[in-house]
Amino acid sequence: MLGLRRPWAPSRRPRRALVVLLLALLTGATACGGFAVGGEDDTVRVYSGRHYDLEAAFQRFHADTGINVEFLFGGDAELRERLASEGADTQADVYMTVDAANLALAAEQGLFQPVESQTLTGAMPANLRDPHNRWFGLSMRARTLVYDPDEVDAQQLSTYEALTQPRWQGRVCMRNSTNSYTQSLVASLIAHHGFDRALEIVAGWVDNDVEILNSDVRIIDTVAANGSCDVGVVNHYYLARRRDKEPDLGVALMWANQNGRGTHVNVSGAGVTRHADNPQLAQRLIEWLATDGQTAFNHGNHEIPVNPDVAPDPLVAQWGDFTQDELNAQRVGALNDEAVELMSEAGYE
Ligand code: FE
Repeated sequence: MLGLRRPWAPSRRPRRALVVLLLALLTGATACGGFAVGGEDDTVRVYSGRHYDLEAAFQRFHADTGINVEFLFGGDAELRERLASEGADTQADVYMTVDAANLALAAEQGLFQPVESQTLTGAMPANLRDPHNRWFGLSMRARTLVYDPDEVDAQQLSTYEALTQPRWQGRVCMRNSTNSYTQSLVASLIAHHGFDRALEIVAGWVDNDVEILNSDVRIIDTVAANGSCDVGVVNHYYLARRRDKEPDLGVALMWANQNGRGTHVNVSGAGVTRHADNPQLAQRLIEWLATDGQTAFNHGNHEIPVNPDVAPDPLVAQWGDFTQDELNAQRVGALNDEAVELMSEAGYE
């Protein structure tokens, strides 16, 4: 599509293009849906469950390399199922998605092929990519603490675990147990503490009457409005986005667990599909996104570059450097089912 020669090139008809793509996805249409027929060797095709600012990044890639990108947006699971059912007939060269759990699942289902690339292994720390090189993190999101500075003494806030203290009774908002961000955070607790101790922590949140809200933005707005919670657990970029619109918003951010293992981070990332027609171009796109394309890929959504040579955008940089939990994202993904089980046992909504 970004070769600017497709009938649905977004430069001409952006809305329509997406509708065509989504329709193709929903109706299970194959080659006639969105992708051009035939294997032009200058086109890389992407299935993406990540939507934030992708078009801008792909456009930049096209300008830098002359390689066309066609992409299909959809739900993470939807696209994974589609890839699995298409098998060798798939036209997707790259599967891109958010959350380590989705990437780990795709890897386990054999939907990726390993890629040996020093550019990629050199571009990001080992915890942000698959140990078997099947997928690579491209942006990092930190799940951390936000609070109302008028109501909360920052000295008293420290860790996810400490939210079980009596002082936080009835004062904390989080997301529910079906939310993948919550699942990954709890998976990280299991990895660090073992199941039983992690169960105590989550049960401690429940005992503290943690309030469940249905979006990170709602959590931030509830804290800002002097609402029913003074503290929230959210992905950092939601606060950055709110700050974009409202620089004086009365919500502060604290990087969690800084005196210990560090703040829980997750990734969005991508891998070359097992049946890619153009694995070289796919690899080139992922390499570009991990290097020259890091700024284009991350800044629009205030995510944090996985590549330590690339600076985060100014809004995120304001919050300073932080220690990140170096638990491997693949392990977080692999513990996802256990995390769901644990929350149900703990009575976490
Ligand atoms: Fe998000």
